[in-house]
Amino acid sequence: MILLPTPIQDLINAFSRLPGIGPKTASRLTFYLLTAPDELSQDLASALGDLKSKTTYCQTCFNITDAGLMQCEICTNQDREQGVLCVVEEPLDVLAIERTHGYQGRYHVLQGVLSPIEGISPEDLKIRELVSRVSEGEISEIILATNPSMEGDATAMYLRQQLAPLGVHITRLARGLPVGGDLEYADQHTLLRALTGRQEMEN
Ligand SMILES: [Zn+2]
Repeated sequence: MILLPTPIQDLINAFSRLPGIGPKTASRLTFYLLTAPDELSQDLASALGDLKSKTTYCQTCFNITDAGLMQCEICTNQDREQGVLCVVEEPLDVLAIERTHGYQGRYHVLQGVLSPIEGISPEDLKIRELVSRVSEGEISEIILATNPSMEGDATAMYLRQQLAPLGVHITRLARGLPVGGDLEYADQHTLLRALTGRQEMEN
């Protein structure tokens, strides 16, 4: 058995813990970095160092923003509609919807989705924060834009139950997005169509 020097094995192990990266890819990336110009490793190391230390979550919508800020750019932008809130699972979904250029309201990022299998319950998501935000009364429409997956649909149903007593207009993205798919991978036009064709949520 050939033993690799510890720093190499450590990096392979670290890459292997990332989603979608198996031991083979982890080894390939590691050996690529070993032979690539030093600058690449340095850039990666500094970007990784900054990743958590220089970012934070917006205290209003829980989207990702620069460290030291209480609110993200979208929440502080006075030109955005105050009365419409789009509820998404992840910060990447905000990017996907922004790319459509068809939405002028604000967001609420749940930071996940309900999943009994993975043990994710309402308390693990930013649902309490959403309900209290809506209770303040400035919001008139809520677009539930969780992914068109089983968990995404179940989460939308749960949110509807929680929000209905507050008397807001609740809509769900129109069908047409690939079922089981991810908002972030939907193409711009499909997503825009789903957004403009959003439908009243039935009981
Ligand atoms: Zn925000």
